[in-house]
Amino acid sequence: MSTGPSGRTELAAVIGRPIRHSLSPALFNAAFVATGLDWVFVALELEEGRAAVAIDALRHLGVRGLSVTMPHKAAMAALVDELTPTAAALGVVNSVFPRHGRIMGTSTDGDGFVDSLREEGVDPEGLSVVVLGAGGAARAVVLALGQAGARRIGIVNRSPQGAEQAAALVPERAHVVSAQAAGEADLIVNATPVGLGSDPSLPLEASLLGPGQVVADLVYHPLVTPLLAAAQRRGARTVGGLGMLVHQAGYQFQAWTGLEAPLGAMAEAARSRIAPSSSGA
Ligand code: NAP
Repeated sequence: MSTGPSGRTELAAVIGRPIRHSLSPALFNAAFVATGLDWVFVALELEEGRAAVAIDALRHLGVRGLSVTMPHKAAMAALVDELTPTAAALGVVNSVFPRHGRIMGTSTDGDGFVDSLREEGVDPEGLSVVVLGAGGAARAVVLALGQAGARRIGIVNRSPQGAEQAAALVPERAHVVSAQAAGEADLIVNATPVGLGSDPSLPLEASLLGPGQVVADLVYHPLVTPLLAAAQRRGARTVGGLGMLVHQAGYQFQAWTGLEAPLGAMAEAARSRIAPSSSGA
């Protein structure tokens, strides 16, 4: 039985603002318990413009890993000693950690998304994809789908400029398209917040969805979003956002600890936090 933190307990945290809603403490503390690590994970509210404080914590307080969320993702990318190629291409990090005296920055969202597809038996290689949205999460997904061999990636976004920037991440194969293109896609990915919480809206017309398609939603609260419910009704396969949340955290856990992530325990911890208020469609 755990005796609680001691003088030897290691610290990891998520920094952001707002941060009190974060599921990260539940996921990572479940992972530490499952692996028997004497580590603890907390949520730290940090105001915009203060990211350098977090770098000091990694260098001087012995903090072992930090998850990074809004509004610090780009600022932290500019402060670390070294970026992974993916983080450098995106210009943002979601995870920073010390390694051999240097502070490393990485972005695990895209790989986490692709893993969540593969876990559901969907291999992006050769698929024609439409991504709805062009923000931070959409860009990570577009880059990872390109790396995973998607044949064509259409990007639909309210503001054309954001869509052009996302398309530039995968030259030749990614293009700005209209929402109608989703009707011809093998895989449709919602990377907008439409459908989050009690929002009943769909990010595209349900008539564009049908059998033979896979519809993925990055939104995980509710677990079954209005888009996923509509896709199921129209005979499409669906992939929810919880898998991405768990897999991106799993990559962070692995980078910080050197251990394989206990994904099952992390998924259970996340699901138990979301499910009670997750009414589905
Ligand atoms: P973001 O950087 O703020 O980007 C939001 C994107 O959605 C932008 O392209 C924006 O378009 C578009 N958008 C916002 N409201 C819209 C609306 N009402 N109608 C149409 N488009 C709209 O946010 P983000 O970090 O990319 O996150 C996007 C979603 O993914 C959030 O719901 C987030 O919770 C979820 N997410 C999930 C995971 C996971 O692990 N499952 C990870 C990361 C993010 P404009 O460019 O025109 O403003």
